[in-house]
Amino acid sequence: MRHLATIAKIEELKNIPGADKIEAARVKGWWVVVMKDQFKIDDFVLYFEIDSFLPVKPEYDFLLKGNKLKKMLSEGKEVEGIRLRTIKLRGTVSQGLILPLTILNNYGNLEKIKDDWYLTLSKQKNMEKIKLEIGLDISNILGIIKYEQPVSPCLSGIVKGAFPSFLPKTDEERIQNMAEVLDSYYMTEKLDGSSVTYYKKDGVFGVCSRNLELQEGETTQWKIARELNLKEKLYDNFAIQGEIVGEGIQKNPYKIRGQKVFFFNVYNIKFGKFLEFEDFKGMCDSLRLETVPILDENFSLPKNVDEMLEIAIGKSMLNSECEREGVVARKKSHIGNERNSFKAISNNYLLNE
Ligand code: AMP
Ligand code: MN
Repeated sequence: MRHLATIAKIEELKNIPGADKIEAARVKGWWVVVMKDQFKIDDFVLYFEIDSFLPVKPEYDFLLKGNKLKKMLSEGKEVEGIRLRTIKLRGTVSQGLILPLTILNNYGNLEKIKDDWYLTLSKQKNMEKIKLEIGLDISNILGIIKYEQPVSPCLSGIVKGAFPSFLPKTDEERIQNMAEVLDSYYMTEKLDGSSVTYYKKDGVFGVCSRNLELQEGETTQWKIARELNLKEKLYDNFAIQGEIVGEGIQKNPYKIRGQKVFFFNVYNIKFGKFLEFEDFKGMCDSLRLETVPILDENFSLPKNVDEMLEIAIGKSMLNSECEREGVVARKKSHIGNERNSFKAISNNYLLNE
């Protein structure tokens, strides 16, 4: 299902050379020409994607200047409306429509509470109160449907029935709505130590080795927890995972004194989700905990495995005289709960072992 009308945020504004009344605004990956100074960056707005079919309503009247109403068949009935299409204004491509949130006052009661916007729908809709979050699809509320070209006669025979429910219909999402798939990876150094998990669940602090939870005691994991004050510091219902390296761990490849931990995961227990890169980094910073060495915050994947294995080879950030074990590349944002990451172990490291 395409999200035709959504709550969006103005991400960027750009001058249009030679135009003083209009400018270009970006929401998601779409550029739309708007009135100058009508919007500011970070404004919450309504965004209507191209091929939205808008009903005839006063709030869209201005679109009718020099534009004809279109007719379209929707569920067997002919309806009239306005089709949004790609246009060019002053040499700038404009795709879709941006309107202020206040349009929603025509559909219910719009209010701002602290930094969040809410819409309470009218009585017919049970006075439902909805939080207007970025990405929320409001096509139904506004009565927006997708414009479909009339089917050519040679393709439309006698209808036998609805599309079989046991088969998926064909469709593809537009890249402008999925900027995150182009989001590059980030790459960290893979440390050769021992993994540790610290968590706090409903106020109870716990420490785990790779496979087991550990009773409080003199293990390195607990010693580090006490040194870093993790029991007090860690936010409730979060877990943090890292690699302990140093004396007594593996062969201490980095030849460090004592033991240290470097974190690579933060997990939100309530949501059952790993934090995405920026949030992970932010949380480690705010807790003053060290992350594994971040080698590249904008890593583009190479063409093949051999090139990736070349990239894995290098000196360690913990000790420039030692080979690193390898690298871990991971998507900066992830869809669903897939983590989309992989390790590439340095063949030089393996040969030295
Ligand atoms: P392996 O050591 O081959 O079992 O590879 C997976 C393990 O690498 C994870 O379980 C972590 O304990 C560890 N590790 C070390 N450095 C990193 C890193 N930068 N990112 C993610 N995992 C890492
Ligand atoms: Mn390992």
